[in-house]
Amino acid sequence: MEAESNLHVLLQDPDLSADLKQIARKVLDNERITFDEGVLLYEKGELSYLGVLANYIRNKKHGDRTYFNRNFHIEPTNLCVYDCKFCSYSRLIKQRSEGWEYTMDDMLDLVKKYDGEPVTEVHIVGGVLPQYDVPFYSELFSRIKAHRPELHVKALTPVEYHYIFKKAKIGYAEGMKLMKEAGLESIPGGGAEIFHEEIRDIICKDKCTADQWLQIHEEWHKLGMRSNATMLYGHIEKHWHRVDHMERLRQLQDKTGGFQTFIPLKFRNQDNQMSDVPESTVIEDLRNYAIARIYLDNFDHIKAYWAMISRNTAQLSLNFGVDDIDGTLDDTTKIYSMAGAEEQHPGMSTKQLVELIKQVGRQPIERDTLYNVVTDYTNFEFPEEVKPQFYKLPVIN
Ligand code: SF4
Repeated sequence: MEAESNLHVLLQDPDLSADLKQIARKVLDNERITFDEGVLLYEKGELSYLGVLANYIRNKKHGDRTYFNRNFHIEPTNLCVYDCKFCSYSRLIKQRSEGWEYTMDDMLDLVKKYDGEPVTEVHIVGGVLPQYDVPFYSELFSRIKAHRPELHVKALTPVEYHYIFKKAKIGYAEGMKLMKEAGLESIPGGGAEIFHEEIRDIICKDKCTADQWLQIHEEWHKLGMRSNATMLYGHIEKHWHRVDHMERLRQLQDKTGGFQTFIPLKFRNQDNQMSDVPESTVIEDLRNYAIARIYLDNFDHIKAYWAMISRNTAQLSLNFGVDDIDGTLDDTTKIYSMAGAEEQHPGMSTKQLVELIKQVGRQPIERDTLYNVVTDYTNFEFPEEVKPQFYKLPVIN
């Protein structure tokens, strides 16, 4: 209700320009905004204005519900045949000594480490190397599912799929079918970066193109399966490149309905070939979440990776369109820390995540990968921690 009355107040504001007022009216009337209006939001929309619009949409879709999940990551390798300019994580094959390459057994051991733990998802992404091919990943997925059938396998991006299918000389449709049969259940959103060729050619020209990225998701959706989408923002792209990126996603989503979540990823400039490019401000990060929420009317969820933007900004983002702050992680990913994120060992207990969400007046909901509710923590009381007992020592004067 408060979110709606804020929007009505905004519409009465005599100082608000006619074009921004028209966008606010569209949001109230549940109408889609155009490409030009998306650009206008970036150029003219102040943080408070964008927050009112995005929070209205967020609350209409989800109320105060704020999602997280219990997950862990496996990053098979940080070596990569590609050389994306923004990547702080990968090492080229000639720098092999600085990297790791997990074997099949290493990865299965990582899965077994969580036996008996209440995790619902394993998230597998990493660099691209020839030994990780279609037979390797098919075997990995099927062995994980054989060991723990209820653990959801969310794995690899179109960057890896394009590479391994090309090597196996199979098409995307056939390849995705094989992956599904092996046990793959959803695809994370990575590898999208910025779709427009003008930018893609500079920051990551060798890996899959925007069209290939979108085609692989489309083939996956045709199998009745779900996936996510990301956008790496805040480097050399212009505002209209961001809108172009979201427009391509919005169009595919109109066609398939297979995307669940959009995740804006903040460019970090530590230890990569774009270290001279300044990072976006927190204000710009929040504006970007809000515009994504307004533009992508056919996406159910907007997610902020707390490990990448810090816990405080993740809390703030919940008033700017975000309804999901990712998972417990358990310090199993190096992608954010190697790029210079504040969290150098990202991991939070369920209790910490729940408190983080409650502190800003929202309802913490643990979800599984497909957004089924696992536990509603709104009125949940965590058991008291057992405090160590000490004997009182005598005081000697
Ligand atoms: S972003 Fe991905 S594909 Fe590009 S170099 Fe890094 S690990 Fe490799």
